[in-house]
Amino acid sequence: MKFSELLKFVETDLKMSHVYQPLMISFLVNSGGAATIRQLAQEFAIADEGSILHYEKRIKEMPVPVLARHGVVSKRAELIELQVEKLTYAQKAQIRAACEKRISDFLEKRGIDVWSGLLEMDPVPSTVRYDVLKRDRKCVLCGASPSADSDVRLHVDHIVPRSKGGSNDIGNLQTLCLECNLGKSNRDNTAFLASELED
Ligand SMILES: [Zn+2]
Repeated sequence: MKFSELLKFVETDLKMSHVYQPLMISFLVNSGGAATIRQLAQEFAIADEGSILHYEKRIKEMPVPVLARHGVVSKRAELIELQVEKLTYAQKAQIRAACEKRISDFLEKRGIDVWSGLLEMDPVPSTVRYDVLKRDRKCVLCGASPSADSDVRLHVDHIVPRSKGGSNDIGNLQTLCLECNLGKSNRDNTAFLASELED
């Protein structure tokens, strides 16, 4: 296809039901003409304002404070910087490979569902979240509650996970501390309590 043909296609012929087609063409042009499905999916996620806001919140809540405490990253306002000496190309590849290995090992061990919390696209409205925290006041599984000298953080959790059809109704929501929440992953409560007993 000639440049003029592609341009015409984008400008006039393209029938849009969503932004996916121009987004994909634009990204392919930008990335030298080719990209993997995974790269495209990442680009789509990047363009999705709803999921961006959700990830911003997640990132600030979880990996940033922990990595900052370990001196791995620093945070200046909205800028996150890796605190490491200048890496060579080979060193960068090695770090990326190590990260990918940790991720795939973790997913294999926990089951792929562990991502569902991270990939939640329909966050609980803040008013509902507030009502749940007000009702429970502490982690309903271990009883931990925030105080001046503990860094317990309470999270609103879906009893039946969203990925399994659970709703954002207050009846399907409960308060968990971060530890219980991560431990629970994407299992429903019955599975969670059963596995606790087995351990
Ligand atoms: Zn707990």
